[in-house]
Amino acid sequence: MDTIPVAKREGVLVVLSGPSGVGKNTVLNVVAKLDSNILLGISATTRTPRPGETDGVNYLFKTKKEFERMIINDELFEFAEYNGNYYGSPKQEVQNWIAMGNAAIIEIEVQGANKVREKYPEAIFIFLAPPSMKALITRLRGRNTESEDKIQARYKTACYEITQAYHYDYIVINDDIREAASEVVQIVHSELMRVKRNKSTIDFFIEETKQDCKE
Ligand code: 5GP
Repeated sequence: MDTIPVAKREGVLVVLSGPSGVGKNTVLNVVAKLDSNILLGISATTRTPRPGETDGVNYLFKTKKEFERMIINDELFEFAEYNGNYYGSPKQEVQNWIAMGNAAIIEIEVQGANKVREKYPEAIFIFLAPPSMKALITRLRGRNTESEDKIQARYKTACYEITQAYHYDYIVINDDIREAASEVVQIVHSELMRVKRNKSTIDFFIEETKQDCKE
């Protein structure tokens, strides 16, 4: 059987948002296991690591000065201040991966996502929601890493964030982690199969038939 050379497909930038405590990192870790071709962009932040978090794995933990240098050097897709800390997503690795026809997911809160939407309208936006807002506050308390004041502040932010879900392309409910992760992977795969990202494959087939189909 002849092998068909795979024509170059266009990659896709996927932005995943959702309120604090909804389980974005947990879901994304399962996404990476389900499809190792999906790159997870690692954000930079000035917040202090939580117990169990590792530099270069969960985040790139930066000082304020280091972070501001990244802003000046235009190294970030976007950055935002969230609960008193800077968060931003470095561009280079993600853009290189996408340029090779792959998908990359960056996790960004809604303000940052709005900025990315303006700058990169071709990106795909997924909102990860909890099964209910009651479940969200239970999860925030269950983390046992923050004071009740901080939890209430995150919950208030979440109340606003949920209103922004209307602007997203997809909503995934994180009731069961594996199911939510598999839904994210399905969205990414479908997006990669869109005709608009595979025009060169169609061009290739047409080219291949040119001799045979001359009238
Ligand atoms: P946490 O401190 O709970 O890890 O994250 C707080 C918020 O920052 C979350 O809503 C998370 O989605 C968001 N976040 C993480 N990385 C980025 C980023 O690169 N840019 C922006 N704007 N927000 C981010």
